[in-house]
Amino acid sequence: MSYSNLSKMNFEISDEQKNFLDEVDRACRAIREHETRCYLEEKPNDMIVPEFGKIGMLGCPISKKYGGLGYDLLTYAFALERIGREGNSLRTFFSVHVSIGQMVLQNWADEEQKRRYLPSTTSGKSIMAFALTEPDAGSDPGSMTTKFEERSDGFVLNGKKHWVGNGTMAQVLTTYARGSDGRISAFIVDTSSKGFHAEEMKNKIGLLSIKNAEIRFENCLVPKENLLGTKGKGLSIAYSTLIDGRLSVAAGAIGVMKDCLEESIVHSQKRQQHGTVLAKKQLIQEHLSSMILNIESSRWLVYRSVAARQKLQDYVEGLREKDQHWQEKLNREDNEYSTLRSRADRLAAIAKLHATNAAFDCANRAVQIFGSFGYQKTNRVARHFLDSRAIIIYEGANEVLKLKIASLELGDKYQAY
Ligand SMILES: Cc1cc2nc3c(=O)[nH]c(=O)nc-3n(C[C@H](O)[C@H](O)[C@H](O)COP(=O)(O)OP(=O)(O)OC[C@H]3O[C@@H](n4cnc5c(N)ncnc54)[C@H](O)[C@@H]3O)c2cc1C
Repeated sequence: MSYSNLSKMNFEISDEQKNFLDEVDRACRAIREHETRCYLEEKPNDMIVPEFGKIGMLGCPISKKYGGLGYDLLTYAFALERIGREGNSLRTFFSVHVSIGQMVLQNWADEEQKRRYLPSTTSGKSIMAFALTEPDAGSDPGSMTTKFEERSDGFVLNGKKHWVGNGTMAQVLTTYARGSDGRISAFIVDTSSKGFHAEEMKNKIGLLSIKNAEIRFENCLVPKENLLGTKGKGLSIAYSTLIDGRLSVAAGAIGVMKDCLEESIVHSQKRQQHGTVLAKKQLIQEHLSSMILNIESSRWLVYRSVAARQKLQDYVEGLREKDQHWQEKLNREDNEYSTLRSRADRLAAIAKLHATNAAFDCANRAVQIFGSFGYQKTNRVARHFLDSRAIIIYEGANEVLKLKIASLELGDKYQAY
């Protein structure tokens, strides 16, 4: 496939990309009714893996070497935008499995780890999750209390994580724990390991067709070879992962907004009140134009930010090919890397902050246009409304992102979080 010319900000797609995105649309349509049923019955959607597995979406941006499609990040973002139309619930599955699941391994694992874990995740035989948040460490993961003890046979983990997406169904996840020297390291954990426990978190108000888990590590032994990246650099791995997570949420939010707009247009052109269809009322048109503004402004923030993330990825891949000690090099001061990462981090925070607020606003307006018809979970816009509340909280709560954006401008000494 032709590689998007990101340096020139060319977002046009090739025929091959178009064919892939058409397949994504087809898979979305194939699971649509089932997704609604699963959502209403609060059951995980068991058609996601077979339907999206058939078209390779379970490893869209993962290298062909490990069974993925090897697509660039912009193509992946376009695919998430399509998936987002079916709801944040479905899109969250992909964000977790791919963006903060597989991509952590693609970016930070050694060759042996990639060969061991990635092929079964791109084929859908195993599902991935990301376990960072703890009951007492949410916006501030640096205060985590999950601990690891290093022994001759591996690392023994003890502690608790919560809200882990895909956590009840994942076979493999990455997690983060503090060593005796106080530094945090990252680990790959097989969920079949002794001492690993996952329990479904109940009573969510949205995202009802995916499950979140509370996870306990009770003397859970992780083999030596499952340390991810450099010991003590776990928090840096987690924060770099959140760049990908935020982009996936923001890309999906565009799809949510498009669906809200389309549903609202169809309804407002049909529904008559006070002698004319709602679409002729100026206040309804104000809702529609605000939605369009939300979509267009989010699009360019997301695409621009994906371009910055791709540049970072290309730089790291180049380094990885040239130098087997690339991780040590990044850990020492590498100015080019720091500049590219900081730019990608900043733009992803801006895109996520804007697109998620915009999606919630669109969903809210769409519910209003539908009136009482929009107040039932059987209605797509009602589900978008419930689900879009979550995206303002996860992958960096929006208040914290505001502080991050401001302090990146002001400098570290002004950091307010
Ligand atoms: C549906 C869902 C799915 C999730 N999936 C995952 C997952 O897969 N893996 C995972 O590890 N975690 C996951 N999470 C956890 C999520 O990342 C955290 O909920 C999020 O980081 C916020 O942490 P918290 O809930 O502890 O809130 P807190 O950190 O307690 O924040 C509460 C409020 O205070 C604000 N706040 C916090 N600090 C500051 C500050 N310094 N200044 C101003 N305001 C501040 C926040 O913005 C927020 O509004 C998920 C959460 C949800 C709801």
